[in-house]
Amino acid sequence: MPGKCALSLSRPLSLSLFLAILNEIYVLSLSSHPSLLNEYLFMVQATGIHIKDNVKNIGVQVLEQVVRGGYNINGTDYAYDFNLSESDVPPTTYLPDSFTYLSSQICPERLPSMKGRLEVNMSEMALEDVERFLLNAEPTMTLGGYWKPRDCVPRWKVAILVPFRNRHEHLPILLRHLIPALQRQRLQFAFYVVEQVGSEPFNRAMLFNVGFREAMRDLDWDCMVFHDVDHMLENDRNYYGCGDMPRHFAVKLNKYSYMLPYNEFFGGVSGLTVEQFTKINGFPNAFWGWGGEDDDLWNRVQYANYTVSRPQGELGRYMSIPHHHRGEVQFLGRYTLLRRSKERQSLDGLNNLQYSPLLSRRPLYTNISVSLSRKLAPIADYN
Ligand code: UDP
Ligand code: MN
Repeated sequence: MPGKCALSLSRPLSLSLFLAILNEIYVLSLSSHPSLLNEYLFMVQATGIHIKDNVKNIGVQVLEQVVRGGYNINGTDYAYDFNLSESDVPPTTYLPDSFTYLSSQICPERLPSMKGRLEVNMSEMALEDVERFLLNAEPTMTLGGYWKPRDCVPRWKVAILVPFRNRHEHLPILLRHLIPALQRQRLQFAFYVVEQVGSEPFNRAMLFNVGFREAMRDLDWDCMVFHDVDHMLENDRNYYGCGDMPRHFAVKLNKYSYMLPYNEFFGGVSGLTVEQFTKINGFPNAFWGWGGEDDDLWNRVQYANYTVSRPQGELGRYMSIPHHHRGEVQFLGRYTLLRRSKERQSLDGLNNLQYSPLLSRRPLYTNISVSLSRKLAPIADYN
């Protein structure tokens, strides 16, 4: 806002004041002072924008009243949010501490238990200690790490899929951090750790495809979250439910100075409904080694005419555990494959995948061990 502007626009502007300004412009135009006129025109334009914002804010307040009265309108908390982006939404839209809900109603998305900024404790801990600690806090968790809220009906049934090989020190940190946050978000969830065995290069994408298939054989999940083991969310208002559009959760990483590295970045933590993931034919299976598979998923999402949604502002912050790539190879063929994302989408993914998994239930997750190789995902010649 230029300093010359005489009127403070930081407060709501009444309609009568707005009309008074319009009247002044009329007078000014008659007295032909072009520079002053410009300044006033600018003011009017700016106040116009401001009025629009105020109308939005009023909308949010109306919404809050409605939400408090009976929050489950049209199946969402955001029934009358006037297409606000989350950064515009004042914090008051989170329900007050005193808010009570019925066990027969769908859990709200903006619960008082979701406090915002989290402490991230990266210190290593034995898995057994984390199990003891979490099961003590929530004895209703069952073998395999299943949990669902009892005081309301979960809005989403979320399978958290974690690709894994030889990161044993990271997993307890992730579980200790994420499980209580998901419980505060009142989501139904379970963790599936998809572990690659064998000597082939790591294939994060194929592991996610395996995890998806196995999770769906296990329970009728409606939302899949694809979660790197070393990513810790910093804000529990980053809601792990799905939506109308595929979601990218890990927007701002400490390792990228909390900036989105590029607009098409879809790595770290992402989420799709079962319907969306099926429609895009899952992840590609052909990315062996580090890199590119998340960009291919982005392309698949675009080709299916989805647009990716992201949490705004502080909500999308993550801290990742520093690590080395112990002998892991970069996938040098990724750029060649990415140029053919579109042709390969229908040929390589959920529909050409074979594998023989080994499942075991642990207190906090299901372990899916799988040996991967290229012959398990044959691709028809597309040239
Ligand atoms: N990963 C793993 N073992 C590996 C390589 C990767 O478990 O040897 C999993 C793990 O969940 C990790 C994710 O794949 O968070 C992404 O790999 P990585 O962390 O190496 O990617 P970067 O952080 O370098 O982008
Ligand atoms: Mn990493």
